[in-house]
Amino acid sequence: MAIATINPATGETLEEFEPFSPEEIDRRLGLADEAFRALGRTSFDTRAEWMRAAADLLDADINDLARTVTTEMGKTLQSARAEIAKCAMGMRFFATHAQRFLADEPLDNPDSVGASRAYVSYQPLGPILAVMPWNFPVWQVIRFAAPALMAGNTGVLKHASNVPRTALYLDRLFTRAGFPEGAFAALLIGSTDVEQVLLDPRIRAATLTGSDAAGSSVGLIAGSQVKKTVLELGGSDPFVVMPSADVDQAVRVGVTARCQNNGQSCIAAKRFLVHEDCFDEFTDRFVERMADLRIGDPMADDTDLGPLATEVGRDGVEQVVADAVGKGAKVLCGGETPDRPGWWYPPTVITDVTPAMRMYDEEVFGPVAQIHRVGSVEDAIALANATPYGLGSSVWTHDPAEQAEFARSIESGQVFVNGMVVSYPQLPFGGVKRSGYGRELAAYGIREFCNTKTVWAA
Ligand code: NAP
Repeated sequence: MAIATINPATGETLEEFEPFSPEEIDRRLGLADEAFRALGRTSFDTRAEWMRAAADLLDADINDLARTVTTEMGKTLQSARAEIAKCAMGMRFFATHAQRFLADEPLDNPDSVGASRAYVSYQPLGPILAVMPWNFPVWQVIRFAAPALMAGNTGVLKHASNVPRTALYLDRLFTRAGFPEGAFAALLIGSTDVEQVLLDPRIRAATLTGSDAAGSSVGLIAGSQVKKTVLELGGSDPFVVMPSADVDQAVRVGVTARCQNNGQSCIAAKRFLVHEDCFDEFTDRFVERMADLRIGDPMADDTDLGPLATEVGRDGVEQVVADAVGKGAKVLCGGETPDRPGWWYPPTVITDVTPAMRMYDEEVFGPVAQIHRVGSVEDAIALANATPYGLGSSVWTHDPAEQAEFARSIESGQVFVNGMVVSYPQLPFGGVKRSGYGRELAAYGIREFCNTKTVWAA
């Protein structure tokens, strides 16, 4: 894939970038390695000061950066702004809490291991490679970078090839804020160059957010070098609606949960599993609201839905819908690609989906909701788990026993009850099954790229 800024709203190529040469990659890895040693000589307080300065820069740059993001990947300008504001908040969160998350943990009864003193200490690993996607092109990077840098690691970013301007902005952000040169740097490289970077001994670990295919490839190469990975991969999240739910609210939130970010979120609600007692009511209102969404210029304030980010992505959505329709699924709204330049796809609702159809167990990365009818909690759980993925899940019920049963039995990294799945710096985020392993955010996330070192003293 060429490294280029192509406006998805028009299909126009705005700028193309030469991939970095092997010499430039080597130079940047060398800087990341040197910066790791320099960061090791800094205190949490110093790093926190720089991290807060970087958050202030993001606040100051929010309008220009939001326009860059919208131009590169098509999300609405207002959601780009919200994403950047969330990044600044996440950076301040780790500036405030990193030292506490990584404080030494003394063993209460050291004599039980024959020591006078024993404790666990968390220490940084070194330069970490971060392979990142375009869908939240600032937040995905920051939620890795903020804890990694606060822990004393350095970061090397391989961003998605369709967001190079955002990558280059992030490349400068942390050094502008005071971090040493090389503490966080971007490499403009294609996915085929990731292997050589992973094999480089200066890279100590890697994180990838993206498709399960990319995750599996990076995991395999890193595994061959015994380097730790964290993988945040795709999802096909269930959104379960039971009879005790507030159907109006479930509809309203469900439409947002499916269509936020133009339908391209890993934790989007992708499969709606609705109890038969409220199926018709939910489906009618849901279709009405989906059909009412305003599609158009992502720069305009009143737009709900912009284009999909890439032509390949849009074609993929078209194909998976055509496959379902060809096998008997019903389209209740949308389903037709508009005839206009750019990569547009309308909000679409589909029923009568069967296991023979690709969308039954593939992730659909666009504003396409499938609604299934379920007859019981057991049905809903079985269908919720009938996917190779296990990222998020949202369940709508006011029955405490049902809430507890869903929370226990759905195979996912997070269960949200009467709310949509959202990532918060305060809560660990990640998946199970083909949605990946490891956790980002909160204390769990910052410790992923630390050496959990045991210290025992006689
Ligand atoms: P993708 O193709 O996997 O790309 C993601 C990143 O991986 C890009 O930087 C890409 O580089 C790189 N890449 C692709 N193939 C690779 C390979 N074989 N080896 C090394 N690097 C490789 O993902 P996408 O389709 O653009 O993004 C959407 C996916 O990301 C969805 O599945 C979504 O659910 C998932 N996602 C997950 C989370 C989460 O937190 N769990 C969050 C956001 C998105 P190029 O751009 O150069 O190809």
